[in-house]
Amino acid sequence: TIYNVGSINLDHLYQLDHFVRPGETMASDHYQCLLGGKGANQSVALAKAGAEVKHVGAIHHTDQSVVTQLQSLGVDTSLIRQIDVPTGHAIIQLTKEAENSIILYQGANHALTEEQVDQVLENAQQGDWVLLQNETNLIEYVMKKAQQQGVKVAFNPAPMNIALTKKLLGLVDLLIVNEVEAMDLIGTPDIDSTLAAFPKAYPDLAVLMTLGKAGVCYFNGEERLQVAAFSVNAVDTTAAGDTFIGFCLSAMMQGQGMAESIRRACAASAICVTRLGAASSIPTQQEVTAFLAQ
Ligand code: ADP
Repeated sequence: TIYNVGSINLDHLYQLDHFVRPGETMASDHYQCLLGGKGANQSVALAKAGAEVKHVGAIHHTDQSVVTQLQSLGVDTSLIRQIDVPTGHAIIQLTKEAENSIILYQGANHALTEEQVDQVLENAQQGDWVLLQNETNLIEYVMKKAQQQGVKVAFNPAPMNIALTKKLLGLVDLLIVNEVEAMDLIGTPDIDSTLAAFPKAYPDLAVLMTLGKAGVCYFNGEERLQVAAFSVNAVDTTAAGDTFIGFCLSAMMQGQGMAESIRRACAASAICVTRLGAASSIPTQQEVTAFLAQ
């Protein structure tokens, strides 16, 4: 089982010619409201990739449709609390160049309680994983609890908070970052110097670094893998990282080696970037298998 302690958002998506500039009012001719949040996206990716995923989080009590949607996608929602705090949400601008610009309101995503975490992790067993992003509260508490239970911790520190992330790295078994997060964390100006400096700064840490269309680099002090991305026509990179994380962790939990897990996850995220949307653009296992067989 993987316990994903993560955000659930309603994404309000607007397609625009360019990002709204200071003082500008712009009409959008395309609007959608979609399930999102890095946490929910990663739970959906995990479920679609075949993992047994329990989402741990909170939403407003009137947003039952969110629970129904997650359930229909294969996520175990029994650990999602429905409370009297607005569901987290995001306002997303999306340009024709497939760039996005996002405002986040955290709402119920920051209403996790220690009691909730204690109850959840009491049932966790060795071999289980806890996954966290940086869109919920009590991250350090969850990690410490997981460590006490002998459960492995995967951490995707997004959006990046440098001080918090540095403080938590000692509690993390697998760190998953994109290149901007990696550069922020190490304080290096470009990706080559980051790739050189990261293993020196954190020699014992296992790190999966996603590099957009340049693929993925993995290192853990002993080995280093570089896997190329698949060449596709990208229209919306929203949830590419979330898709990658879900498929990679799922493959790892199903006993695949790291290189094969990364390859499957690159295929899944390549499919994701060819589609508009967040959770809805995450492919199924079957689609990934078919893509790899091409
Ligand atoms: P994030 O969405 O967190 O910024 P990345 O942009 O690094 O993460 O994307 C995650 C993964 O998605 C990459 O490692 C790659 O495998 C895949 N990916 C992203 N952009 C593209 C693209 N343009 N073409 C093919 N694959 C892509």
